[in-house]
Amino acid sequence: MHDFVYTAQPSRVVFGAGSIQHLAREIDALGAKRALVLCTPEQTAAADRVAAMLGARAAGIFAKAVMHVPIETAREARAEANRLGADCAVAIGGGSTTGLGKAIALDSGLPIVAIPTTYAGSEMTPIYGITEAGLKKTGKDARVLPRTVIYDPELTLTLPAALSLTSGMNAIAHAAEGLYAHDGNPVMALMAEEGIRAAAAALPPLLADARDLDARSDALYAAWLCGTVLGNVAMGLHHKLCHTLGGTFDLPHAEVHTVVLPHALAYNAAAARDAMARVVRALANAGRAAPSAPRGVFDLAIEHGAPTALRDIGMPAAGLDRAADLAVSNQYPNPRPLERAAIRELLQRAYEGARPD
Ligand code: NAD
Repeated sequence: MHDFVYTAQPSRVVFGAGSIQHLAREIDALGAKRALVLCTPEQTAAADRVAAMLGARAAGIFAKAVMHVPIETAREARAEANRLGADCAVAIGGGSTTGLGKAIALDSGLPIVAIPTTYAGSEMTPIYGITEAGLKKTGKDARVLPRTVIYDPELTLTLPAALSLTSGMNAIAHAAEGLYAHDGNPVMALMAEEGIRAAAAALPPLLADARDLDARSDALYAAWLCGTVLGNVAMGLHHKLCHTLGGTFDLPHAEVHTVVLPHALAYNAAAARDAMARVVRALANAGRAAPSAPRGVFDLAIEHGAPTALRDIGMPAAGLDRAADLAVSNQYPNPRPLERAAIRELLQRAYEGARPD
């Protein structure tokens, strides 16, 4: 056993089909009385339902959450929370909606109740991101960690199959990088391995029948585990690359994670053998024998029709050099040192959708 430091992060999780019925109870437990409900323009029906359930505890709905939390939207939401005298925020949706709640909490300390409807995992992290003048800044602040998370798989039944798959791969990416984190610990490694297993086992039946509630429950359980890993240990090359590619070239978040993951794992494989072995074991325990971790995650994606090439999700070939430059412009801990030529090659393979060894 290596030395480690483990700090538990305080959050309360309520899990189960139909558990949204406990929302009012959870708001009361926070001592809050006026909740501002947040959602994207596409999820107003879900937000209306939440507001109706809350009755007098609902201060209003702010339905303008969008990807990457533009500072203008954050300011508007903060002003609305003030105007309505909200004393908590209820974020129902994916990472974009949770991210808007975090932007409000960062400014005001308002407690967040998160009701995640994707597998992105933001609800379990103290990490926030806000985009100003085209640049997404991320940071960590304990105030933005949602105080309560309600995981209700019934709310994920409407998540389209394609996004369910890429969002699930996004979750697996958190866990895979958590297994080789420089500040990792044995508890997070247990959660990471189980998260990969649960995601890999849940995705095939879920994609065969998007309304399979058991598979949806298992996928959301995986999202919880993988999100917890993301919130507790440092991510490496994979997450940095995805952040750069998503921010600089405006590529879709979950898809870019899906495409890059096998190649980032291949880059790190020789320097993180134990982590790779644990990914392979997790896949095997999900009934998916894989010759290697990179191949295992690549095959899981491609077999179910996920995009596997950056060129198919909007990446310009002319941007690959710039992406490689950006990837090495800041040094950060990663199992294998950041080498520009090798990262440029990684990006080329991801661009083409090459199958890893
Ligand atoms: P998203 O929140 O942008 O959602 C994508 C689309 O799917 C939206 O239109 C949304 O309304 C819709 N949607 C979500 N759930 C649905 C459902 N159940 N049924 C029907 N439609 C549904 O996507 P995401 O991948 O969850 O989040 C991506 C964003 O979250 C990125 O900006 C990323 O940087 C951020 N993120 C942050 C963290 C963190 O720790 N801070 C972690 C993960 C992701």
